[in-house]
Amino acid sequence: MSPAPFRRAERLAGIEISEIVQLSERAAELRRAGQDVVALTTGEPDFPTPPHVVAAAHAAAEAGQTRYPPTAGTPELRAAIARQAGAEAAEVLVSTGAKQVLANAMLATLDPGDEVLIPAPFWTSYGDIVALAGGRPVRLPCPAADGFKLRPEALAAAITPRTRWLMLNSPSNPTGAVYGPGELAALAAVLADHPQVWVLSDEIYSHLAYVPAPSLRDAAPGLAERTLVVDGVSKAFAMTGWRLGWGIGPRALIGAMAAVQGQVTSGACSISQAAALAALTGPQELLADRRAAFRARRDRVCAALAAIPGISCVPPDGAFYAFPDVTGLILGGGFADDAALCRWLLDEVGLALVPGRAFGMPGHVRLSFAYAEREIDDALDRLATAAARLAARPFQ
Ligand code: PMP
Repeated sequence: MSPAPFRRAERLAGIEISEIVQLSERAAELRRAGQDVVALTTGEPDFPTPPHVVAAAHAAAEAGQTRYPPTAGTPELRAAIARQAGAEAAEVLVSTGAKQVLANAMLATLDPGDEVLIPAPFWTSYGDIVALAGGRPVRLPCPAADGFKLRPEALAAAITPRTRWLMLNSPSNPTGAVYGPGELAALAAVLADHPQVWVLSDEIYSHLAYVPAPSLRDAAPGLAERTLVVDGVSKAFAMTGWRLGWGIGPRALIGAMAAVQGQVTSGACSISQAAALAALTGPQELLADRRAAFRARRDRVCAALAAIPGISCVPPDGAFYAFPDVTGLILGGGFADDAALCRWLLDEVGLALVPGRAFGMPGHVRLSFAYAEREIDDALDRLATAAARLAARPFQ
């Protein structure tokens, strides 16, 4: 008998490799084929992991920290995270990246049809993680005119008896929007009337904010019993490859998430946990240095974008992304949408950017400035050249 064709589980319907990964790979492919391509597609600091962190990992490996770690994390790392957040160690779960924290939380809490409110633009994985866990992602559009932030009225209007979670991400990927204390308090006031709704506050870019970026734990203490803060070392300490993040929340939730993780991956890599401990307890000045470097890049990017006709950009207050509106270029060039514009930019001037539709907001592109300045300048020159070519085209 011939083998039956491969069949995907229904839960994978509509879930594909992320558009960001696809684009980065396409850019790398073109480069390998000898083409001159610059890509501002990935959200990964170009800095190296600090040497003292790498040294701590070596020392851990040599000291024999090479066995299964406790499922929820090493006591030392959980205690250090808890200390920083003003929480108890039992309220901390260490995972294989912030991404696994999100997956644990959704798998541990969602039943089929449960709704998760996701303000758009959003980080691409949120909706797919919710769908994989059997939930229903509900997009809440937050236009540039609102600074890409969720308004309390929009939140109130979207809540139903099936709503289990609201996902917040401040500073935001892809917009760099940062919620101030008053804005968080206003959202918390809406949630006060809906005790079944929990909040997942993804604060992985909190060390990369150019304005004060309060944690939801501080801005809305009244929500503490239903708040999960997500954080990690990937962005702040340039440790994306170490795969180490954590969640801070009520014990019952942390216990349920640990039960999921215990069956899927067990405790996060012991060497990475030792490295993260060194990052959290070692010198912190480098965070301010890096923030200053990203801020300078942010200013450079905003100034260059402002000089390109057909583009407008809300300046990001945090993270390392700009999310300009490019409808002027899309309409001027007669493109079907932002994805078509991005394909043309890659072919015409060798520039890879991610279309806004990947983040739930078409008409925009995401440009990461976690790259060396010469690459950023080169990319912005190419964008300006492309815009000038479009402007010179006959009307179509
Ligand atoms: N949340 C957001 C908003 C992100 O941008 C990312 C990484 N792109 C993550 C979570 C995942 O981070 P980690 O590397 O810790 O899995």
